Amino acid sequence: MSTHHLADSDFQGRILALTGGVGGAKLARGLAGVLKGGQLTIAANTADDFDYWGLRICPDLDSVMYALADLNDETRGWGLKDESWRTGIAMRRLGGDEWFQIGDQDAATHIFRSQMLATGSSLAEVTEKLCCGLGIAQTLLPMSEDKVATKVNTDQGWLEFQEYFVRDKCEPEVRGLAFDGIETAQLHPAIVDLLQGDELAAVIICPSNPFVSVDPILSIPGCRALLNATKAPVIAVSPIIAGRAVKGPAAKMMRELAMPATATAVAQHYGDLLDGYVLDEQDADCADDVASLGIEVCVAPTMMSDVSSKMRLAEIVLDFAAGIALRN
Ligand code: GDP
Repeated sequence: MSTHHLADSDFQGRILALTGGVGGAKLARGLAGVLKGGQLTIAANTADDFDYWGLRICPDLDSVMYALADLNDETRGWGLKDESWRTGIAMRRLGGDEWFQIGDQDAATHIFRSQMLATGSSLAEVTEKLCCGLGIAQTLLPMSEDKVATKVNTDQGWLEFQEYFVRDKCEPEVRGLAFDGIETAQLHPAIVDLLQGDELAAVIICPSNPFVSVDPILSIPGCRALLNATKAPVIAVSPIIAGRAVKGPAAKMMRELAMPATATAVAQHYGDLLDGYVLDEQDADCADDVASLGIEVCVAPTMMSDVSSKMRLAEIVLDFAAGIALRN
């Protein structure tokens, strides 16, 4: 087990962060705070993307974007701060769908995206434009340009991901997951280039839901092989703290998928992909079990409640990665 000391934020090389929405966005914000803009590339899950009100919604890309721009609403946990909801109220008056909430400012993001996609831009191009508009210096990429859609097999039958997640509030019991379109999806070429290049210093799997946020990325054909082949250490941060998810259904899903809701089970799930794993201090007793999987362990405070705790965890993760790279 490594004990950590804070790095001097002089980390060299490029970092690839794999992320979902909320939990991943928190660490992405921390990494953005301690790395130079050009060092950080964030690849976000797009298997939650869907169409609503005739607009293309990319929840994970947007969560990361808003977090990097410091425009995210910390209290609500999603969407933009200082938001208003008049579009939704007007939509209800018209008899439109209202199970998914879209704020007035947030709507501009989806309109902007949908308009650019309709005129032939790629999702990465749209995301770059949106990031540019929000003054974001880091590179944010969709995991793929190909459409992949998470379907949730539940005790109530198969559901679209957002029907399960938002409309049904994660209440149905999960029996399995499928990522429609994954067999033919290609990892975004810029992610492949980064994974194959010699500037890559670490891959960080953010504390996102392993099953519905990270697995779609890892399930793209060739992704695991590239991660196994890179010389850069692959490090994951546990999204499970003391048997609970900080937010969302990860722990409930683990129990329903007949797995213990523990930080160790998440490490086991990622398996031989990992060189290092960051456990929360409350889970220090899992360290030996994770180490017995042949994965180096770092125990750290992983609850990110404000910008300084996000940056502190980012520094610990980078320091841990640098140590592993030196030893290998
Ligand atoms: P989603 O796509 O919006 O569901 O977001 P993610 O998959 O990125 O994030 C959900 C996961 O983030 C959950 O499993 C949470 O437990 C985890 N999470 C959220 N906040 C934190 C935090 O501060 N620390 C850690 N370690 N995990 C967190």
